[in-house]
Amino acid sequence: MAATYPILRMRRLRKTEAVRQLVRETALSPQDFIYPMFVTHGKGVRREISAMPGCYHLSPDEAVREAQEAQSLGIPAVLLFGIPAQKDGVGSEAYAENGIVQQAVRAIKGALPEMVVVTDVCLCEYTDHGHCGVIVDGHVENDRSVELIAKAAVSHAKAGADIVAPSDMMDGRVGAIRKALDAGGQSNVPIMSYAAKYASAFFGPFREAAGSTPQFGDRRGYQMDPANAREALREIELDISEGADIIMVKPALAYLDIIARARQRFDLPIAAYNVSGEYSMLKAAARNGWLDERRSVMETLTSIKRAGADIIITYHAKDAARWLRE
Ligand SMILES: [Zn+2]
Repeated sequence: MAATYPILRMRRLRKTEAVRQLVRETALSPQDFIYPMFVTHGKGVRREISAMPGCYHLSPDEAVREAQEAQSLGIPAVLLFGIPAQKDGVGSEAYAENGIVQQAVRAIKGALPEMVVVTDVCLCEYTDHGHCGVIVDGHVENDRSVELIAKAAVSHAKAGADIVAPSDMMDGRVGAIRKALDAGGQSNVPIMSYAAKYASAFFGPFREAAGSTPQFGDRRGYQMDPANAREALREIELDISEGADIIMVKPALAYLDIIARARQRFDLPIAAYNVSGEYSMLKAAARNGWLDERRSVMETLTSIKRAGADIIITYHAKDAARWLRE
């Protein structure tokens, strides 16, 4: 039988920082992080996003500087979101050869060939109605949207993207992207699928950042209901069967149970997206003196890794990498 108090004293292993380090189960590293960035047209543009202090709209040249800084801190990857020059009904700039993401990919890969450049693949930043697909008879039409999303993924890969990450939650898009990439000679480009993406209030600040608030309705017709966990496992399973190489749970903090369940069930690398609202909450509380920013950020990121994520996509990446080096 296992020993109990007073023979067993749990506090013995908490005695000093050195002992605590020795028995620590979860260790964060800058290598765990993907740093998301918002790229916009122009030159020398670096415009702070008001709801996300420390995050910016960056022109391609500034995005290169930002990626350089991330790389110097040991962060291996960036994730790009595009702010197009013009929006339309079918999100044309998402798959334009000289679209803003395509330009930024070329600029970053040209300057920093070692940096892993991941691109968000969706239509919502590029459509004038703000939905993740095309609208037919007042609703988001799945199969036509999937065609355009696959086209965007191929154009990102052609520009030099290392990984494409579809975030739209249409049915069948992972399979369609895999097929399109392979047909386009891009069979070595992996897909990181936003497999379990919830219709979350925590995306709020991002929509300001990306200008992608739906102009009518909401995204509950394609993103998942926050109440469902088993359905998330089905979504993940489907994406794996369609050829996803990395699966993602988004958001992270309110869905740690989903990350943990996915970890138990699947052996693929799991990414978790520590989303804009999670970031802004801590930033706002820290600015008001209500929370210690460094401790609360590190505790949050540690919880995501402890839940089972291999990869953490986070706006805190640069700060956290700096703190991990101290
Ligand atoms: Zn979208």
